[in-house]
Amino acid sequence: MLFGGIEAGGTKFVCAVGDQNGNIIQKVRIPTTVPEETMGRVMDFFKAFELVAIGVGSFGPIDVDRGSATYGCITTTPKVAWRQYPIVRTLQEAFHIPVGFHTDVNAAALGEATYGAAKGLDSCLYVTIGTGIGAGAIVGGKLLEGLSHPEMGHTVVRRHPEDLYRGRCPYHADCLEGLAAGPALKERWGAEGAALADRSEVWEMEGYYIAQALLQYILILSPKRIVLGGGVMGQKQLFPHIFKHVEALLSGYVKLPALESYIVPPALEDPGVIGSLLIAEQAYKKEYTSIVS
Ligand code: ADP
Ligand code: ZN
Repeated sequence: MLFGGIEAGGTKFVCAVGDQNGNIIQKVRIPTTVPEETMGRVMDFFKAFELVAIGVGSFGPIDVDRGSATYGCITTTPKVAWRQYPIVRTLQEAFHIPVGFHTDVNAAALGEATYGAAKGLDSCLYVTIGTGIGAGAIVGGKLLEGLSHPEMGHTVVRRHPEDLYRGRCPYHADCLEGLAAGPALKERWGAEGAALADRSEVWEMEGYYIAQALLQYILILSPKRIVLGGGVMGQKQLFPHIFKHVEALLSGYVKLPALESYIVPPALEDPGVIGSLLIAEQAYKKEYTSIVS
């Protein structure tokens, strides 16, 4: 049985065909340009296979409310060409198979919980710190959704006493994403994150912000493990700064496992695309179960 998975990102779409055991048979990277071009190439790639379902883990915000007229669309993205783009309907009309739809970070959380750093846990969090900041959560073995999907990257944080940078979130200026995503690092410090590796004050401040967000997530969701991914987390020296601040903020109030085993890097190379394949499998099972019952 073959599934299609799409990790739809702002700079690239990673598409894969895989089986029910998490084996990837073929994978491609397609640049994110305009929907017609990018999705045309995505669909050409999938047409060579007999797929039974497709899963999408998408950049957002997206409409995941099945009762909504715009379910399956990318909604208020700053990427103008993709605003209100009906990605689910487009795939359904082309392939006539079930299509599952979640955020990219929820897909990554599912991937890591099934095969990666949170394998076997019914509760975990996947946080990406890249061009933006976002998090997906598994709670009670299920992807967390409510009114819509969570938007944990826009959490409010206390300012670092030495930070004079105004922040760059177009909605809130100095939310977590506005102060700590890759583009904020570049604007505040004048260089790409990768070029700031030996500037300890950069990672001290970055750890200060990330730890505050993790504190909120720990207090509210009580995840059994937190996986930190995304380009900025390529700076492994960030982890000890995060541990130090999480410990100070929690002040012994919540009993956690050793932080090195609790706040960890991803174990999968592409958790988002693996998760998208799992979302496809879930969509297939849901459809099948509803037909037979
Ligand atoms: P995206 O979030 O667009 O899917 P990434 O997770 O790769 O992609 O994040 C890209 C961001 O991460 C950019 O702002 C980039 O500057 C930053 N980044 C990428 N690699 C590194 C690195 N090794 N160290 C620090 N920052 C990095
Ligand atoms: Zn914000």
